[in-house]
Amino acid sequence: MYDVLIVGAGPAGSTLARMIGEKYRVLLVDKRFNPANRSIRSKCCGGLLAPDAQHILGTLGLALPRDILVGPQIFKVRAIDLQSGLDKYYQRFYINLDRDKFDHWLISLLPQSVETKFGKHLVRIEPGNPIRVHLHGDNRSETLECRVLVGADGAASAVRRQLFTSAATPRSYLAIQEWFPTTEIMPYFSAIFEPAITDFYSWIIPKENYLIMGAALPPGKSARHRYSRLKQALNNYGFNLEDSIKQESALVLRPTGPGQIITGRNQVLLIGEAAGWISPSSAEGLSYAFTSALFAYQSLNEGLVAPAERYQKIARSLSRNISNKLIKSSLMYCAPSRRAIMASGLFTMRVENTL
Ligand SMILES: Cc1cc2nc3c(=O)[nH]c(=O)nc-3n(C[C@H](O)[C@H](O)[C@H](O)COP(=O)(O)OP(=O)(O)OC[C@H]3O[C@@H](n4cnc5c(N)ncnc54)[C@H](O)[C@@H]3O)c2cc1C
Repeated sequence: MYDVLIVGAGPAGSTLARMIGEKYRVLLVDKRFNPANRSIRSKCCGGLLAPDAQHILGTLGLALPRDILVGPQIFKVRAIDLQSGLDKYYQRFYINLDRDKFDHWLISLLPQSVETKFGKHLVRIEPGNPIRVHLHGDNRSETLECRVLVGADGAASAVRRQLFTSAATPRSYLAIQEWFPTTEIMPYFSAIFEPAITDFYSWIIPKENYLIMGAALPPGKSARHRYSRLKQALNNYGFNLEDSIKQESALVLRPTGPGQIITGRNQVLLIGEAAGWISPSSAEGLSYAFTSALFAYQSLNEGLVAPAERYQKIARSLSRNISNKLIKSSLMYCAPSRRAIMASGLFTMRVENTL
């Protein structure tokens, strides 16, 4: 029997496994990694490490190896309100990453004592003491037992879906991203607001020899049509988004109230996006993945009995952070207040020689 079984080896799950792996018998399960050739199915992500995420990595005692970085490193955001034509720059420091390499690197930090089952997915959970977890992969099913189960399985969390059926869920969006080859050096990340396309936002991120264009769209039949309309509008605006080499998509959550964050119950914890930890204003989720993993570690480090209650208490500061982001979000995504703030020039940055 495992002391702690973690489902999901993204930033949240691999970080928690690294921290508790020497104290307890830990199993880390993930469907995305292929153990045969050590490859990984890409996580659709912008791969920008925002200041909060940089801060928590420092707290965790980590520094990034050079080969994870991709150019350019970014010092400003270009905010574009397509309908009004308002177009402003704001100072913000991002580390630009190769997300696949980043996830691999986090896994490479696991202590030897952590057992892994990659290429396996969680099928079913039988609550109880112990908790029984049914996995499937490689044409084989198996059942394992654990004292504590951690759902670190991202936006579409099966742990959350199966064990917290009556919980309020964050609003979900379909994020679509395309990769366009470019020779242009774009020294900023663009955040695009177009309420006729989505009530969330869209982005263009330079990534070495590519521009990634993405949008978080209301899910449903119209999503791909909305995406095409946006691409057309951005081409008309002056971006060069032609002949993409790859399109990818993923679910992304957007909490609309703090009650939608579910940290767990009794012997089950949820961390990272599975819990709903993600910024409702920017969809930045990496800092929350690391911080919630740290808080879950602090709870588990005290013992394995009822860790969810301790984790919930420790994570109150993170809930307050989400509440603050909800206020920011209500200002950013209300067209009149956004335009008033942009037009005022408050916090904007003068750019002399835009490439
Ligand atoms: C398009 C897009 C762009 C984004 N850009 C940024 C950005 O630039 N910066 C930022 O900070 N955040 C960004 N985010 C958010 C960020 O990617 C997530 O919040 C972050 O990855 C959450 O980490 P996590 O470990 O909780 O979950 P994930 O990274 O989603 O990892 C979950 C893991 O669980 C595994 N899993 C899922 N279900 C099962 C199962 N049933 N059985 C076994 N394994 C399972 C998956 O394979 C995966 O490896 C973006 C999100 C999207 C969709």
